Amino acid sequence: MKPSLNEIKKKTIFMVCIVVVLLALLVLRVAYWQIIRGDELSGKAKAQQQGSSIVTASRGDIYDRNGKVLAESATVNTLICNPKDIEADGDSEVIAARLAPVLNMDQNEILKIITKNSRYQVIKKRLTNEQTEAVKKLRDSDVDATIAKAFKGVYFENDSKRYYPFNVAPHILGFTGYDNNGLQGIELTFDDELMGRNGSIETNQSAKGTTLKDQQNEYLNSSQNGDDVVLTIDETIQHFLEKHLEEAVTENKLKEGAAGIIMNPKTGEILAMATKPDFDVNNPYDIDQFEKYAIDLGYDTSDDTGDDPDATPKPTEDPNNLSDEAIAKIRNKMWRNKVISDTYEPGSTFKIITAAAALEEHVVDLNSTFYCPGFKIVADRKIGCANKSGHGAQTFVEGVRNSCNPVFMELGERLGYEKFMEYFTAFGLTEKTNVELVGEASSIYYHNKMSEVDIATSSFGQGFQITPIQLVTAVSAVINGGERMKPQIVKEIRNSNGILKTYEPEVISRVISEETSQQMREILVIEDVLNYLGVEKQYTENEEPDVKQEIPDVRTMDLTEAKKSVVDKKLNVQVRGDGDTVVDQLPKPGTMLNEDSTVILYTEEIDKTHTVTVPNLKGMSVDNAKYTLEMSGLNFEIVGAGHSEVSSAYAVNQSIAAGEEVTPATVIGVEFRQVTSD
Ligand SMILES: [Zn+2]
Repeated sequence: MKPSLNEIKKKTIFMVCIVVVLLALLVLRVAYWQIIRGDELSGKAKAQQQGSSIVTASRGDIYDRNGKVLAESATVNTLICNPKDIEADGDSEVIAARLAPVLNMDQNEILKIITKNSRYQVIKKRLTNEQTEAVKKLRDSDVDATIAKAFKGVYFENDSKRYYPFNVAPHILGFTGYDNNGLQGIELTFDDELMGRNGSIETNQSAKGTTLKDQQNEYLNSSQNGDDVVLTIDETIQHFLEKHLEEAVTENKLKEGAAGIIMNPKTGEILAMATKPDFDVNNPYDIDQFEKYAIDLGYDTSDDTGDDPDATPKPTEDPNNLSDEAIAKIRNKMWRNKVISDTYEPGSTFKIITAAAALEEHVVDLNSTFYCPGFKIVADRKIGCANKSGHGAQTFVEGVRNSCNPVFMELGERLGYEKFMEYFTAFGLTEKTNVELVGEASSIYYHNKMSEVDIATSSFGQGFQITPIQLVTAVSAVINGGERMKPQIVKEIRNSNGILKTYEPEVISRVISEETSQQMREILVIEDVLNYLGVEKQYTENEEPDVKQEIPDVRTMDLTEAKKSVVDKKLNVQVRGDGDTVVDQLPKPGTMLNEDSTVILYTEEIDKTHTVTVPNLKGMSVDNAKYTLEMSGLNFEIVGAGHSEVSSAYAVNQSIAAGEEVTPATVIGVEFRQVTSD
């Protein structure tokens, strides 16, 4: 029986249905492979057929404001290999034996790398020019065809290395890490802009993973070079600032180092900024330069937290034998940009701010008169002027130029707590400046109501701590017409096509009027304004620095002659022994002493066993500590930015602990703090 048409139709439909379902399944399957796992599969195929190598993007340059290159990248070679190529065409034993002496690597180590089951291995990064040339010769068949053949599978890859041609501004520029990423300074804050994007070259390979000789197809995923950063810094000014700071540190033996900043007050642009001692920007991990200061100056290499002073190296420790932890601490300290990361008591420089606020509030005018008897009674305290015998009668302008404390205490009193804090805040001293650098510290100031004594001492810059960059920004506002500017260190971002971004001067707020600013300029002009700002003054040991005298070498001199040389230096003499000729002296020649300190001259061999016990000075006033040390045959020195000129100051620290045995005439440094009013 023939199937009915109807049945045929049914069957056909059934068949079609099956085909459709099968087709659908097939389509889905194809779609699955194509769409869902497509990338993965084509990647696998590609990896089987192609090898790839990275093209490092060139990191952007850093320029000074005049176009001098402060940081640039140079290409260096990385030696890589394809172990599959070596296995197929090269000779791993020959490669390892020949490379070891050139790269200063262990032969077995190289052998291990180049025989790995891999298609890409780095043999050595950042070859020197000599190493690059030597390897090129090994690969050159004109030099030696046999060796060149053995080197099949060994290739160069471009990498880039950072250079700082002027070797200046380490704390501003910072440095980059092994992979060219920024780790400090502008290199870190502008890492995204400077970095660029790496590209890659892909080369066709056989299924075994060896590079196909005849196939030149290379796919280039283009790299994009980093943008350039133009700073507001002027390299010449930066150079001189660094030079002067270095001299200041060395000549004055500033154990805490020094920091300086030069700003255009009109625009807030930073022209120079430096901290000394510093580090070699081209060798940022090298602590030798910094350690040299430590040894020469007795510089404190411990970190500033003071959490664990015993764990940090003392300058006398052998610098070649430091623990990793000690080295890390030294590095952290030497990388520290004091201008933005360290707070300090501004002292007299702050008087500029107090004077400007007082003029603006009309609690004083240029001709107002004051009388300084050498102190001022505030609440129950007698707070001294640096000039103990008093400045006598003076006008406001004279008082400012005399830097007379009682005048400023009076201004503080007239302003009162609310106005004082209003200006303290308006001048930006309660907030970070947000300069484009990392590590900016917050200021430390009275958050609660200040007592009369707090206001008095604050009016001449004591009792709170700010950063140098905050101070220079505030002083700029005083003299630039009255506007507080945002400090700027970056001028523009650019690439080969031109400028991408410009940083315009930014006014934060008006703090004082044009008129007050004009008056302040008249009072300060440069009376040596720089003397007020005094870069080297900021970190001197004492607000009113003592005159230091270098002890002359009087050994072998006739006693009378020796006495005269010491007394000529305004130092006191004590003689030990009955001889006529000086055979030894303490302290040793070259030591810096305050005037009025004592030098002991020995006319007989020193009894080396003779020592003096260091007394406990804690809690003593300045006069009392000095007297106690004199009585013990020791010399006295004020250290730290303390409150030594305030009569209520008391000793909180001494450079050599009480109870220690020291040679006579040893200088004991004493740190003072003011009694807090609470
Ligand atoms: Zn005075």
